[in-house]
This record gives sequence, structure tokens and C-alpha cells, in this order.
Amino acid sequence: MRIIGIFGGTFDPIHCGHLETARHVYTTLGLDHVRFVLSARPPHRVAPVAPVDDRTQMLRLAVENEAGFVVDDREQQRRGPSYTVWTLRSLRAELPQQPLALLLGADAFLKLDTWFCWQQILALTHLIVLPRPGSSVAYVADAWYRDALSIDVCELERVSAGRIYVSNTPLIDVSASSIREKIGAHENASADVPDAVWAYIQQHGLYGCAANSRHEHAV
Ligand code: ATP
Repeated sequence: MRIIGIFGGTFDPIHCGHLETARHVYTTLGLDHVRFVLSARPPHRVAPVAPVDDRTQMLRLAVENEAGFVVDDREQQRRGPSYTVWTLRSLRAELPQQPLALLLGADAFLKLDTWFCWQQILALTHLIVLPRPGSSVAYVADAWYRDALSIDVCELERVSAGRIYVSNTPLIDVSASSIREKIGAHENASADVPDAVWAYIQQHGLYGCAANSRHEHAV
């Protein structure tokens, strides 16, 4: 059975680092599709800068024309903190046999043991780790990690959860915080986000950008 990818994030805003890595994994691993799950109320970090409705709109604009990408809004529909384990439990209840794989940047993976009920996560899903500048999983020595590592995509398709696959996605040096900083400093961050997302940021004056009534590309 083909794997469904789950890409969770604050997406404040969604950017090329998310999209290019997801495209690479979708294509190279032959995923069924990738579900982008916006963390409405992220419990493990400071509150997002943009309101949840704006982050959702940007996410929708970014994925609407991408084959194989869909938005899953269950964390907005649910009350309380956006714990990933709750999202995975609800997906697992809908798809009991389906291989699921949570896509995680290496920085997020290295903090996994701080997440709520983190030990249950691997029982519910595979993990696909995306290399990210400044974070390496090469020296992770924990037994649970070493025991779960797999280099065989077919193995991830045969079982529904429990394996960790480190993807060979190219390093993409873009982060939402660097984009917010650039915009706050009135620099052009248009290359870091899809055109429609850049237009939305400008139209709505997000991240300290002066609001435009119509879209103008910064130069
Ligand atoms: P911020 O800079 O605000 O912390 P971010 O760029 O890390 O944001 P998030 O929405 O918090 O974006 O990230 C969602 C997921 O995407 C996380 O697992 C994160 O590690 C991963 N991710 C984000 N950017 C990249 C990137 N450039 N390459 C690989 N993974 C990434």
C-alpha cells in the first residue's frame, strides 16, 4: 500500500523549504499524497506571528495547484493544543492499515523527545526525516532510533508504522523565521515563498510588510 505523507507545521508562512522537500519525498518515494496539517495552536513553541486564518489561506494558496498535495484542517477543527499525537490518532482511526509517514525536518526530529506522548508517535506512523542546514541526525545514537532506521522504502509500504527513513532531500536554507525577519527589515523575501503567498503577505500586511491593496512584486 502506498504511503500517505503528513507534513505538520506552523507554516508562518509556508515556504519553499517545506514545498521543495515535500515534492522531493512525494516523487522519490512514490507517496499516495502529502497532507499538510497546519498546527493551529502549536504547544512546543512561541505563538505564531500570523493569525491562524492567514496561515491557513497561505497554505491553501501554496498547495492548491500542486499534484498530490492536500490541506488537512483537523487541528483547526479541534479544540485545545495542536498535539501531533492526537492528529495521528485520529488519522489512524480513519486509516487503520494505511502506511502513514510524518515528514519532519532534522531540527524538529532532534527535539522529538520533548513532544507530548512522543513515544506513541512511532507506534502510529513512520517518520521521514528531511535534512536541514544546521541540524544533523548522523550522530543520533539512541537505541530506539537505530532500531527503527530503515533504508528500504518497500519496508515502509509493507508495515503501517514504526520505521524511520532519512531522506536525501537537498538542503534548502530557508526558514519561516528568516522570511519574517527579512520582511520586517523591508527586504525582499519573494524568492522564498510561492508567488501567491508573497502576494497574500503584501495584500494583508503580514510580518511588518506595508499592506498593499494590489499585488506589486518588490524588486
Ligand atoms: P520557524 O523558522 O518559524 O521555526 P520553520 O521554517 O521551521 O519555522 P515550520 O512550519 O515550523 O517552519 O516547520 C514545519 C516542519 O517543516 C518542521 O518539521 C521543520 O523542521 C520542517 N522544515 C521547515 N523548513 C525546512 C527546510 N528548509 N528544510 C527541511 N525541513 C524544513
